[in-house]
Amino acid sequence: MTTIAFIGLGNMGGPMAANLSKAGFDVRAFDLSVQALATAKEHGCEVAASAQDAAKDARVVISMLPAGQHVRALFVDGEAPLFDVIAPGALVIDSSTIDAETARKVAAAAEEKGIDFIDAPVSGGVGGAQAGTLTFIVGGTSAQFEKARPVLEVMGKNIFHAGESGAGQVAKACNNMLLAILMAGTCEAINMGVKNGLDPAVLSEIMKQSSGGNWALNVYNPYPGVMENAPALKGYQGGFLTELMLKDLNLAMDISQQSAAPVPMGSAARALYALHKANGHGRLDFSSLMTFYQDK
Ligand code: NAD
Repeated sequence: MTTIAFIGLGNMGGPMAANLSKAGFDVRAFDLSVQALATAKEHGCEVAASAQDAAKDARVVISMLPAGQHVRALFVDGEAPLFDVIAPGALVIDSSTIDAETARKVAAAAEEKGIDFIDAPVSGGVGGAQAGTLTFIVGGTSAQFEKARPVLEVMGKNIFHAGESGAGQVAKACNNMLLAILMAGTCEAINMGVKNGLDPAVLSEIMKQSSGGNWALNVYNPYPGVMENAPALKGYQGGFLTELMLKDLNLAMDISQQSAAPVPMGSAARALYALHKANGHGRLDFSSLMTFYQDK
């Protein structure tokens, strides 16, 4: 079976690597965290002593790291760049959410060495990573996309080819900017209804079935007590952190500036999430923006 090196075994990467191992791939895993390595071992992965040890000889290398600087350092200009040891013809899948420019630069560095590199950020959160139902949004050539598909299908349900290198990151930024706007609007509307005597559950159902219906109302209601399993019911613990949403909105703002695409709504959402984080809520789920609107 194909050997897959998996670098970055955090909230997302850990369960993604576990699913590959469960599907029968030989997964050689590496993370800077000893705890993450121990968990990967429990899930059937072979633990490597370094990222280079994990990646050499692997036909597929997957990375799931926090941000662009980590990805660039790992592959190109860190102390022990992986592009020095990965064999020509191997496929690198970076599923981290990073800026499109870094994704394109790392892909160009890979091409010089005869390595295929695609950006393949995901949507679907930790639950999707665990269940193997992530959405992958891929940037790269059609041939690279087809090469990656069998591996991505083990970890995800919907696999999209967004376009050339960097297009996956652009599409991901567009999606998360829209999500931030929809969540802010949903919080705003529910709060106004409640302040005018409406029951939040009744109002949510009305809007869900009307023209204001959206993903936040359908599966992620931000008002505590309206929806089972939503982070709002658990004090906004877990889920998708405010600080990660802010990171994604900053990436969207970069793209808007580089392309002169006007994003007044995205910009307002970025300001709201930045304030929410400054108020000490960076480590709460992003739907905790609800509390920003409520009377204190
Ligand atoms: P995380 O912080 O839980 O995991 C990142 C892991 O990378 C950590 O375990 C860290 O030790 C490891 N790491 C960092 N640098 C490393 C290096 N040089 N070598 C080896 N390991 C290294 O983050 P996460 O929630 O798993 O998110 C990963 C990426 O996925 C981010 O870009 C995030 O924006 C994106 N994402 C997250 C979610 C979510 O719901 N958490 C959803 C979609 C996308």
